[in-house]
Amino acid sequence: MSTAHRQVPAGTHRVLILGAGYAGMAAATQLAARTRRADVQVTLVNAQERFTERLRLHMTATGQRLAELDITELLAGTGAQFVRGWVTAVDAHAKTVRVDDSRVLRYDTLVYALGSVTDTATVPGVEEHAYTLDGPSGATTLADRLARLGAGTVVVVGSGLTGIEAAAEIAERHPEVGVTLVGQQDPGASMNPKARAYLGGALTRLGVQVISGAAVTRVRPDAVELAGAETVAADVVLWTGGTRVAPLAAAAGLTVDERGRVVTDSALRSVSHPEVYAIGDAAAIRQGYGVLHGTCQSGMPTGVHAAVSIARALRGRQPRPFRFGYYHTPVSLGRNDAVVQFTRPDDSPRRGCLTGRMAVWYKETVSASPWPTYRRMSRLPSSGAFWPRGGRFTRLRDAR
Ligand SMILES: Cc1cc2nc3c(=O)[nH]c(=O)nc-3n(C[C@H](O)[C@H](O)[C@H](O)COP(=O)(O)OP(=O)(O)OC[C@H]3O[C@@H](n4cnc5c(N)ncnc54)[C@H](O)[C@@H]3O)c2cc1C
Repeated sequence: MSTAHRQVPAGTHRVLILGAGYAGMAAATQLAARTRRADVQVTLVNAQERFTERLRLHMTATGQRLAELDITELLAGTGAQFVRGWVTAVDAHAKTVRVDDSRVLRYDTLVYALGSVTDTATVPGVEEHAYTLDGPSGATTLADRLARLGAGTVVVVGSGLTGIEAAAEIAERHPEVGVTLVGQQDPGASMNPKARAYLGGALTRLGVQVISGAAVTRVRPDAVELAGAETVAADVVLWTGGTRVAPLAAAAGLTVDERGRVVTDSALRSVSHPEVYAIGDAAAIRQGYGVLHGTCQSGMPTGVHAAVSIARALRGRQPRPFRFGYYHTPVSLGRNDAVVQFTRPDDSPRRGCLTGRMAVWYKETVSASPWPTYRRMSRLPSSGAFWPRGGRFTRLRDAR
C-alpha cells in the first residue's frame, strides 16, 4: 500500500480534513492560520478544486453562472496542502484514508466533513428519473434540460427550503414552464404566519402550483405517483426530499446515528474515536434543543470550532464544548424576492421577518459571505470565531 502524502518530518502532527464544503473550508483555513508556527501539516481533500456553493445550486440549475472559487488559490500561502480526489475508505485503526482507491493518506487527527447528498434511495424511480441538486454537474444537466423543455411541466418534490427555492427559481427563469411543488408539509410550515403567508403569495405570483400533504410513492419517466393513487404529470422531476450521508464513517467503525452521521461529543470529537472530529452535515451534533440539522449557518461554526479545539489540544489544552444557536432562515424566491424568518436558537420562529427587497439583500449577503470569511480567517483566525452560542437553549447538562 503506497502513501501519496507529501513526506513530513518525523514528529510533525498530520491533520487530514476530508471535504472542502462550507464546514471543511472553515476548518482548513482556521487551522492553517492557528498552527502556522507549529509542527503541523494540514491537508484538505476534496473531490473538486472548485468550491461548490451549494446554497446557490438552484441558480446553476436555471443556467446562471456562478463565480469560479478556486480552493487551491485560496489556500495558497496558508501552509495547508490540497489533495484533489475522491475519498473511498477510512481506516480508523491504521489512521489512514484511501483516495481514488489508489492513494493512501495518513493522519494523526482526522476532520470528517464530507457533507450530505440528496436521499434518492427511499422512493422507487428517483434514482433513474429524477434530477437532484447535489453538485454543479447535476445542476448543469438540469439547466440544459430546462433550457430545451419549452412549455413543459416540472415537478419539484420536497417542500423544504431547497424545494421552495428551486421551484421559485425555475418558475421565474422559465415562465413558459408549469411548475408544481409537491410535499408533505405546507411551504414555510416552520415560519411564523406572516412569513408563511408572504412565501405562499410569492409562489402564487410566480405561478407555482403547490400540492401539500402529499407523499410521493414512485417517480416515473412522465409523472410522479402520490399515495392514494393520484398522479401528477411531469416532463422533469427535481427531487429534494431529504438528505443522506456517505456510508464511509459507518464502514470505518465510527459510531454513527440512524442516518449514518458521526456521533460527536460536546467538543465535536467522535464518541468512539476521539482523534476524529466530525463537522457539518456529516455529523450528529447535539445541543440542548436537539441534534443540529444540516445548514451552512451551523456548518461553518462547527468547522471553526473543530480547528480551535485541535489547536488547543496540540498545545496540551482541553477543547471546549461547542455551542450554537440558530438565528435565521433566509429563503430566496427567485432573484427579485425573498423572505427571511428570524429564529430562536432552537430554530423556532420569532415574530420578526424580512420580506421583499430587504430580504433579497439579506439573503444575498448571507450567500456571498462564506468565501470572503475563509479568506479573512486565513489571515486573522479570530475574525471567524463569532456566532450566537444560543444561551440557555444550547446548554447541555453533561457538557464536557
Ligand atoms: C440548493 C440548496 C440550497 C441550500 N440553501 C441553504 C441556505 O440557504 N442556508 C443554509 O444554511 N443551508 C442551505 N443549504 C444546506 C447547506 O448547503 C449544507 O448544510 C452545507 O452545504 C453543509 O456543509 P458541509 O461542509 O457539511 O457539506 P458540503 O457543503 O456538502 O461539502 C462537502 C464536500 O465534500 C465533498 N465530498 C463529499 N464526498 C466526498 C468524497 N467521498 N471524497 C471527496 N470529497 C467528497 C463534496 O464534493 C463537497 O465539496 C442548501 C442546500 C442546497 C442543496
